[in-house]
Amino acid sequence: MTAFPAGTILGYPRIGRRRELKKAVEAFWAGRIDEAALETTAAGLRAATRERLAELGLGREDSAIPESFSYYDQVLDAALTVGAIPSRFEDLRDADGTIGLPAYFTAARGEGDRAPLEMTKWFDSNYHYLVPEIGPETVFSLSSSRLVDQVAEAVAAGFRTRPVIVGPVTLLALAKASDASPDGFDPLSRLDDVVAVYVELLAKLKAAGADWVQLDEPALVSESLPATTVQLADAAQRALVVLGGAADRPQILVAAPYAALGEVLPVLASAPIEAIAIDLVRGAVPESLPDLAGKTLVGGVIDGHNIWRGDLRGAFDKLEALRALGAPAVSASTSTSLLHVPHDVTDESKLDARLVSWLAFADQKVEQVTALARGLVEDRAAVADALDAATAALADRQTAPGVRDGAVRARALAEADFSRVSYEEREAAQLALDLPALPLTTIGSFPQTGDIRRARAQFTRGELPQDDYEAFLRTEIDRVVALQEDLGLDVLVHGEAERNDMVQYFAENLDGFAVTENGWVQSYGSRATRPSILWGDVSRPAPITVSWSAYAQSLSAKHVKGMLTGPVTILAWSFVRDDQPLGETANQVALALRDEITDLEAAGIAIIQVDEPALRELLPLKKADQAAYLEWSVNSFRLATGGAAAPTQIHTHLCYSEFGVVIDAIRALDADVTSIEAARSRMEVVADIAKYGFDHGVGPGVYDIHSPRVPSVAEIESLLRRATSELPLRQLWVNPDCGLKTRGYDETVASLRNIVEATHRVREDVNVPA
Ligand code: GLN
Ligand code: ZN
Repeated sequence: MTAFPAGTILGYPRIGRRRELKKAVEAFWAGRIDEAALETTAAGLRAATRERLAELGLGREDSAIPESFSYYDQVLDAALTVGAIPSRFEDLRDADGTIGLPAYFTAARGEGDRAPLEMTKWFDSNYHYLVPEIGPETVFSLSSSRLVDQVAEAVAAGFRTRPVIVGPVTLLALAKASDASPDGFDPLSRLDDVVAVYVELLAKLKAAGADWVQLDEPALVSESLPATTVQLADAAQRALVVLGGAADRPQILVAAPYAALGEVLPVLASAPIEAIAIDLVRGAVPESLPDLAGKTLVGGVIDGHNIWRGDLRGAFDKLEALRALGAPAVSASTSTSLLHVPHDVTDESKLDARLVSWLAFADQKVEQVTALARGLVEDRAAVADALDAATAALADRQTAPGVRDGAVRARALAEADFSRVSYEEREAAQLALDLPALPLTTIGSFPQTGDIRRARAQFTRGELPQDDYEAFLRTEIDRVVALQEDLGLDVLVHGEAERNDMVQYFAENLDGFAVTENGWVQSYGSRATRPSILWGDVSRPAPITVSWSAYAQSLSAKHVKGMLTGPVTILAWSFVRDDQPLGETANQVALALRDEITDLEAAGIAIIQVDEPALRELLPLKKADQAAYLEWSVNSFRLATGGAAAPTQIHTHLCYSEFGVVIDAIRALDADVTSIEAARSRMEVVADIAKYGFDHGVGPGVYDIHSPRVPSVAEIESLLRRATSELPLRQLWVNPDCGLKTRGYDETVASLRNIVEATHRVREDVNVPA
């Protein structure tokens, strides 16, 4: 029995400070390196991570360092470790029955006729996980030794690390029923079978040298899953009795972050485990503690979601409060895995020094945790300097110029600013747009080619003069518009070549934001984004998108959609100031966008899309918090779009298919047309839309852009027929699931051709002239 370390983190970014993992994985996919070379790079990254974490103050041999590497996704890792591979990939197992990298990556990405696993957002973050498919036919068996091997690898390097794996309840709670399942099948009904495999895994982890294991069970705190919290708590109780009762196992830490533990705490307190991690950033310190029977309480007091240095003194107060409540042992930790923040703020050479002094990226958070841990082991006085320095930075932030801008705050809002005329009136006015039935469009971006990225990099480094860069971008627009004309799309886009990222681009052009050089955060698989830092009051010094949209419109007699990112998404994909309510910040962004829409209209743009792919993602996990969130988020969208004239068609785009969950909010956005992801979930969303009686325009995606696969005409046609059978024709649009920026041109053009062809077939059939 070794005690739980005084300080730890729940997980660490795995992509590498310079996205080394992304580069290696993509080189492997492209056939440029072999599997052994990929494994070598990954092992090198893991070794570097352990050394770095030890250097930052986590113990080498006390299980403080999490073993939290993943090649693609931790949910996929857990699913495949217990053998839950959908039958369409079964034949890809290695000869000995284990699931190796080829099967792993194929399940993640799809190939030919084998559709990949669905992908969706991980709790209230912008990280996407792969949705396991589990049915009565799933045969659970230990099918991968990866995690065990990593523990052994660490031991060989002189470390004793703490393996981290998604726990059995969360794995099943996030799963969907496999295609072979009978109606109403609940993956949670397979709990006992899965737990049996975890028992086996725990024994192997122990044998490899793990003193502690971390089971991530965030499903237990979510009220946004199909299973109720009571069902989830029951499942946890059953699972932990078996896991905790196993004869041969490491000590168990159960982590249930992303919201308050609430009623789950007593359940975990009575389980035969040794430690509980509790999120004290999203949840408050409980008023009292149940009998913890000797367990360590791991207080998640350092925010794993955000990059602010924060109130370290307040964090220490929370740990002391846990002690005062009688917790048998208290450790300091991050609230969640540090997966959601970039590696190291010292990698930023261009950020203003004053701003840097307010920030903590992953490595700085590790240092904060180790300071708190020292305070716990010694006393508060031992870490007074660290606590005081953080408090001084907070005070400095409050008074720095730009944090509060008088002109921004002086803009008064009236009730009428949040509404347009009725949908009926708008629909009538928009007949003048003269669109065919099933109008064909795309979501906005076209492939970001190597040429585009090179030109942008040269421009950013000052090697390409602005005039030349802009001329280059106009040539891109020429090409993209001509391509869309040639394909026969109805509503065109300019292609977004000028945007590195849909949020960062606006951040760079608005006051109140800063952007990083190396602040990458994993979004899904090998994809990473660089969230901007929204630190001050937001305003628009000049029009942002108008010249590009107007230029594109000048090239075509068809409508070109203006393309903006909505306020909620700008907030969701940035690191946002935490010194005022989000709704206040959202309205500042909304006003800047509202002015942009007015300018687009004046420039002759008749259709304007305001993307809100993140609307669902920020939805609080607790039901009690959801109404307030939906109110401010919907209002900010309405404030942004409320100034548009009736004939201007406002589109929005949402990046997921769980339409039902936020249907009231989508209705309240009151966009004229909403495009939504649907291809991966095979148009299931259309039934939801029909059921809810949503009557505005809707474009359920017919092409899964997360996968390199080209959908066939027949496949798209059948998706479209499903849509036309459930929804009136006048409502329907045809579009891909999302923007095309991550795809290559060949697959994009082939897919769009198939979409156009399938649409023509369906149009003929419904007797509408194409
Ligand atoms: N307009 C954006 C694009 O096409 C939307 C992307 C998104 O929703 N994530 O790239
Ligand atoms: Zn999208």
